[in-house]
Amino acid sequence: MISVLKSPIHVLSEWMYPPTCKACGLGRDGGNLVCSKCYENLSLTNFSNWIDTVSCRDGIDEAYSCWFFDKELQQVIHLLKYSDYARVGTQLGTLTAQNIGTDYNGNIDMLIPIPLHSIKKRKRGYNQADFIAKGISQIWGIPVRTDVLRRSKFTESQTTLNKDERIQNMADAIKIVKDVRGKSCALIDDVLTTGSTMSSAASALKKRGADKVIAITCATPRPGESS
Ligand SMILES: [Zn+2]
Repeated sequence: MISVLKSPIHVLSEWMYPPTCKACGLGRDGGNLVCSKCYENLSLTNFSNWIDTVSCRDGIDEAYSCWFFDKELQQVIHLLKYSDYARVGTQLGTLTAQNIGTDYNGNIDMLIPIPLHSIKKRKRGYNQADFIAKGISQIWGIPVRTDVLRRSKFTESQTTLNKDERIQNMADAIKIVKDVRGKSCALIDDVLTTGSTMSSAASALKKRGADKVIAITCATPRPGESS
């Protein structure tokens, strides 16, 4: 039988030699998965509404991101793919909310993580956007609703598709399964590139009567770098 408890020697060695940062492999920061130096190295945006520069923006009223999606942040975001490290998402969420403004709420009624299709979710076991939304919720006190959107169509990875193909690929991929009439919703995801996924969700929310839809992500490519 494999013991799930750590041996006293293991605990002592972790205390004496805390594990190194999972992003840079160097820093040791009290057992935190990502060290404070890595967070300090991330390039902050100016947190202003940049919706005018998003290529697919139908249905989205405002868009906010915390950092530019540079190499340093790509290393941190990459950790979200591994279940052992996915809780980094909560920290990214709290930092995103703090940087946008602890008193910002935009009169938002609910935070809605962009859902993964159930096949993908079963494979991965969790949705990383849920962790990010949880972190934002801890700062802004706005409830997270994971029961509003449903991914109705399996969409393959979009990285090799161009803008028009992405829009086509996402058309009707997201369904609204709860009443959102008159509500202000914030869609949450890790990265906003072309906005095709966000826009598909936002348009669906608007069609079902949502009053306002804001897109909030941890990361965005630098202007002119989105594909
Ligand atoms: Zn680090």
